[in-house]
Amino acid sequence: MINTKSPGLPSAEEIDIPALKEKYRQERDRRIRKEGQEQYVRPVDDFAAAYEADPYTPVIPRKAVCEEIDIAVLGGGWSGIAAGVHIRKSGLTSFRHIDHAGDFGGVWYWNRYPGLQCDNDAYCYLPLLEETGFMPSKKFTDGHEIREYAQSIAKKYELYENALFHTMVESLRWDEELKRWRIATRQGDDIRARFVIMANGLLNIPKLPGIPGIHGFKGHMFHTARWDYDYTGGCEKRPVLDKLADKRVALVGTGATAIQLVPYLGKYAKQFYVLQRTPSCVDSRRNSETDPEWVKTLKPGWQAQRRDNFHRGANERFLRGEKDLICDIWTEVNRNLSAEQEEQGWPELTAQEFAARFEEMDFRVMERLRRRVDAIVEDKETAELLKPWYRYQCKRPTSNDEYYQTFNRRNVKLIDVSETQGVQRMTQNGFVANGVEYEVDCMLFASGYEVTSDLDRRWGIPVFEGRGGLSMYDNWNGSYKTLHGMMTHGFPNLFTTGYYQGGLNSTLTYNFEQQVKHMLYIIKEVLDRGALAAEVSKEAQDAWIRHMRETEVNKAEWIASCTPSYFNNEGKPDVDENGNERYRFYLGELYGPGWDAFMRVLENWRSRGDLDGLVLSR
Ligand code: NDP
Repeated sequence: MINTKSPGLPSAEEIDIPALKEKYRQERDRRIRKEGQEQYVRPVDDFAAAYEADPYTPVIPRKAVCEEIDIAVLGGGWSGIAAGVHIRKSGLTSFRHIDHAGDFGGVWYWNRYPGLQCDNDAYCYLPLLEETGFMPSKKFTDGHEIREYAQSIAKKYELYENALFHTMVESLRWDEELKRWRIATRQGDDIRARFVIMANGLLNIPKLPGIPGIHGFKGHMFHTARWDYDYTGGCEKRPVLDKLADKRVALVGTGATAIQLVPYLGKYAKQFYVLQRTPSCVDSRRNSETDPEWVKTLKPGWQAQRRDNFHRGANERFLRGEKDLICDIWTEVNRNLSAEQEEQGWPELTAQEFAARFEEMDFRVMERLRRRVDAIVEDKETAELLKPWYRYQCKRPTSNDEYYQTFNRRNVKLIDVSETQGVQRMTQNGFVANGVEYEVDCMLFASGYEVTSDLDRRWGIPVFEGRGGLSMYDNWNGSYKTLHGMMTHGFPNLFTTGYYQGGLNSTLTYNFEQQVKHMLYIIKEVLDRGALAAEVSKEAQDAWIRHMRETEVNKAEWIASCTPSYFNNEGKPDVDENGNERYRFYLGELYGPGWDAFMRVLENWRSRGDLDGLVLSR
């Protein structure tokens, strides 16, 4: 047997899919808020200081920079680092990273909360392992190890010497006369860059729930992306939160961040309230230290093979005889399916037949996860509230070996706030939930980031104007408009990393690597041809959008049926220019034929060598 089914997986006969669908629908409907994203408050006014200040690295005053460079990379997280590596590899030297943070690392710079680990297999997630010779210490490795590794790559590729940290971009304007982007920062810089690579990440701006009274709370309050160890005690590498021993603490949110954090707060706080609107699904973690003997067996090319295996397991399907190398919550549905197909002598399945099996397995896996709650949580009422009622991957699946156990502690109370679609209100001394006021010393927010909100909220750059003063925010209002997800008509020499309109690989960092490789190819070609600017023609952009739509795998029904969250723009559809409803998906518009096909599109485009669809100006 190549793959085995998860222990405890119910059979199809044990579950009632129509009844589950109806239950999922009810649970979704009662959570949809008419305000959509507007239910959240932006980190402005009295919250701005908490978002803008850097609790980790002192700000060193510096003189404003006024200069011309080839490339500005906006962001120093994984995508920015990948851009830096490829810039160096292509021999270019005139570039700068600009980041609000005090160092490289992106989300791994800002997030330092107790329990922070990568939820994905680190042997896939951490880029360039074969090149750097680095090996993560664990399968799901710690946040600080990831940050330190990111920074070691930045050192290796000499990215520090050009970086401007603690710098916030105020405006980005295309100057048609100069044929350059003018970047103005809050620090007074005036940088005229030939090219800009937007490496601004998916989870860069924390958001807070707009709970009535939130501004009036007199106790201590912070978002998990700005952890205050001075208040809680302990430190990132030794999160002994001993200063909470006499504190009453409440945590808003039960997403992937909270799942990692809850065991620590439960262990150290005198009284701990978990305010839950929608439960996550939480599998066992099965983390393990890296075995040096296993490392010795790895052959060149192992990381690419492992990533491909993960991608098939998490997003496509396993090949016949293919072993699941990852074996975690992300690959479970496909692992179970491949085990059952093996049992049946691997019948050939059409796409529709496979999709039907996948859907059924989705319901079975979610049922297994609900049964897991019953097996661990002693109080039946609490167990009931912790059960997730939605399709697999409607919310990020998580794993943790202490999360459910924490609710068996006497000092921990789960408060379900789904009836009121969130915490009712906050008072000077605490919060009100289900009509009851609870006094607390500290309110913590694991309330997420601006992911599918409108672009200006997500990017946080007040002015962003392309040729002729066209606002990027107006241009992309309603739907993305790109060639390959990376270049946009009206915005010459501008490249966007992230998920907009292209292929998706299950390893986030690998998407970035492939995108910046493509961008650097274009930048080099433009410079080598003595051109000053490259812009996607409207025709080429329209053709790509048409091709995307024609080959799209329609996920609209699934997205619409999901419990509201940033995955589906809080369950609120956009209406495009033709009056069609489209659900904004957190991974953007995905290339239907898949990742490998998308890679072929890019490779073929490059190999033709004619920069097809780009208009060069000299
Ligand atoms: P999420 O956006 O996933 O979760 C926010 C939480 O806040 C949800 O539980 C939400 O409830 C809750 N919430 C929002 N408003 C209210 C309200 N008014 N009252 C009560 N509850 C409220 O944020 P996370 O920080 O948990 O995760 C964000 C992303 O960060 C993840 O999806 C993942 O991509 C990434 N991450 C990655 C990790 C990794 O290991 N690689 C680890 C941790 C995070 P509801 O669901 O009802 O909206």
